[in-house]
Amino acid sequence: MKIIDSHVHLYPEPDINKEFNISQEPVNTLLFELSQKLKINNIDLAVVYLLDKRILTFNKYKIKIPKNLIISTIVGIQDYTDIVDIRRADKKGIKIIKILPYEQKILRSSYNRVLDLAEFAEEKNMVLTICSTYGSKLLYETNGIELATLIKKKYDIPIILAHGGGPKILDAMSVMLEYDDIFLDLSFSLKFWWDSSIIKDYAFALKKLGSKRCFYGSDYPYVKFDESLYYFNKFIKKYNFSDEAIENILHINFEEFERKYL
Ligand SMILES: [Zn+2]
Repeated sequence: MKIIDSHVHLYPEPDINKEFNISQEPVNTLLFELSQKLKINNIDLAVVYLLDKRILTFNKYKIKIPKNLIISTIVGIQDYTDIVDIRRADKKGIKIIKILPYEQKILRSSYNRVLDLAEFAEEKNMVLTICSTYGSKLLYETNGIELATLIKKKYDIPIILAHGGGPKILDAMSVMLEYDDIFLDLSFSLKFWWDSSIIKDYAFALKKLGSKRCFYGSDYPYVKFDESLYYFNKFIKKYNFSDEAIENILHINFEEFERKYL
């Protein structure tokens, strides 16, 4: 069966510091190795999130993007001048901008910055991926789903809620019922929350949404490719997802998304 992994990282070890300094690593070699690894694991296509905006200053010919990868980048958030990053991303043809509320310390006082970026992104037909994992030391100060909801009130822009919200999966579902261009990915969460009641809520939410608008994802290397599929298979068996729903989640939903927005 065809598999699209909608959420992977470039550095092959779980090392968030390397992720934020990925421009200092041999990016082309890492891209090539990741591309090969996807092939070995029978994954047809993946979205790779690059968490170092210095990558945007690389010469156009410096990055070779393998055919089975779609590149996304972060941009600066804290300053008005940060608009320059998203302009660069647009010039490079990067359509997916990743926003990380915790790592980029996007407190409520910075929401206006994000809205400025969203305005530009809307104009340029870009997509925002907002990290909607649950936890961190800023647990009560950052909130990806809240931020996404605020953006959607003002701007007509597709949003992917990365990781689906964890314990806030029902919040994610509720706002997704209001807008048909909010999506979620399953990366990280199925493994991390396995055996908790949250997994049952993921099944409920996915079925409520008709198994559309949900993308399979691993969060490699934080969850390994085979591990991720192992939990996905457990999940679909336990909650009796139909063959059609499984195909939708594994590749059809993302293919439709790609055709429409990327
Ligand atoms: Zn991730």
